[in-house]
Order: sequence, then C-alpha cells, then structure tokens
Amino acid sequence: MTAQRPPVLELRDVWCAFGDHEVLRGIDLAVHRHEVVVLVGPSGSGKSTLLRTANLLEHVDDGQILLTGEDITDPRVDADAVRARVGTVFQAYNLFPHLSVLDNVTLASRVVHKRPRAEAEAHGRELLAGIGLGAKADAYPDMLSGGQQQRVAIVRAIAADPELLLLDEITSALDPELVGEVLDLVRSLKDRGATILMATHEMAFARDVADRVVFLDQGRVLEQGPAREFFADPRETRTREFLARFR
Ligand code: ADP
Ligand code: MG
Repeated sequence: MTAQRPPVLELRDVWCAFGDHEVLRGIDLAVHRHEVVVLVGPSGSGKSTLLRTANLLEHVDDGQILLTGEDITDPRVDADAVRARVGTVFQAYNLFPHLSVLDNVTLASRVVHKRPRAEAEAHGRELLAGIGLGAKADAYPDMLSGGQQQRVAIVRAIAADPELLLLDEITSALDPELVGEVLDLVRSLKDRGATILMATHEMAFARDVADRVVFLDQGRVLEQGPAREFFADPRETRTREFLARFR
C-alpha cells in the first residue's frame, strides 16, 4: 500500500463564535489535492468565516485546522508563513489601488518569497499574458473592468504557487456580463490541478466544476456530496429549499 497523503486542508470539529453568536458549530471538512470544493448556503451560514479561519484571518475557539497535516491552529504557528502557502481572493477590493497591475501581481513574490524583482516580474508578465492581460501590466487597477480586476487578483493569488486557493464569492460584486470570464479562469486553474475551496452562489458553475459541494446551514455542514448527486437529489429539506431559489 502507498502511504496516503494528508488532505491539503482539513477542518476537525471547528467552532467559532462572536460573543454569544456561534457562527461555526463543529465543522468537519477536508479538501484533497486537486479537488475543487464549493461551499454553498444561505447568507450568514458561515461560509466567509470558514474560509477566513483557513488562512488564520479569523479565530478558532475549538477544533483544529490542518494544512497538509500541520495543525495551523497551534498558537506557535507563524500566520504569515501559513498565508504564504494559501492564496485568497475575496468578493471585491482585492487589488492595491496605488500599485500597477504588475506590482500587485509580484508584490508577494518579491516581499514574502524574496524572489529577485526581474524574475518575479518576468513571471508576473507571463501570468498576465496567460489571461490575456499582458497589455495591462503597467496600468492601475481602476483602469480595468471589475472582471479584469478579479482575474488579476486570482493571478496574484497563484503567483507564488500556493498549495490551496480560497475564493470567497469572487463574482458576486461583478456585473453579470463579467462573471463568465472570471469563472472560466477558475475552471482553467482546476484543469491545471489547483486545489480550491470556494464559496459561490453560481450554482450552474458549482454543478459543472465542483468535485464536491458542501451545504452550510447555521454554521454546520448540513450535507455534502459529489456535485451531480448534490444538485440532482439533495437529501435535506433545507437544501432543497435553498436550491429552489436558484431555479
Ligand atoms: P456567509 O459568508 O455565509 O454569508 P459569514 O461567515 O459572513 O456568512 O457570517 C456568518 C455570521 O457571522 C453572520 O451572522 C455574521 O453577521 C457573523 N459575523 C461574521 N463576522 C463577524 C464579526 N467579525 N463579528 C461579529 N459577527 C460576525
Ligand atoms: Mg460570505
């Protein structure tokens, strides 16, 4: 038998409260290498909080979070070192407005990973060219469309080859006609073997691209399964009610 790799990300009975409001109530979740796991659920169910705990932007009251087997909730862990291994993109305002597109993309490689500027910039230009934005390298974020900005944010998140990508409703602030280009980029990352945990309300995308869908409800994983099964035959009444809103 070959030794099994640990999941890239594993949450074990994770709890998180704000005051007396329990927002995550015993989350168990694993994301394996090359897997795309989509979190769905009503607004306020805890999706963003869950994603934020996974790169230590939010506290954990109880339970463990493991990144390739290493417990990152151990207080001795260096949070910056963890964040250097996890790429994150949020709903909006991801880019530094005062930096050029290229500087946005290369900043972490240069500062965190100490790559020489010329090397980081060559790689950054290549990544931008790869998403059709090579000509925008020296532009500033506000000269780009929302869709272009989110694609740059994704490219920035992958520039340092993270082990895991966390994407939190990255298309929900976009005009509808710009959503497709951003989701196409996520799909191409999956095809290239990225490991992704993402929250989205784009159900058609989740059905097509997710390996597994996890339904969060009031801070718990109410049900999860392979995307096709999840959408074709949800078990729980609350899942059915939630999905009915998207038909
Ligand atoms: P979702 O992303 O699924 O909409 P969130 O994780 O953003 O859900 O929020 C879950 C709940 O936690 C909400 O009730 C929200 O108001 C609350 N919450 C999130 N962050 C904080 C915070 N920093 N302080 C207090 N309450 C918070
Ligand atoms: Mg959210």
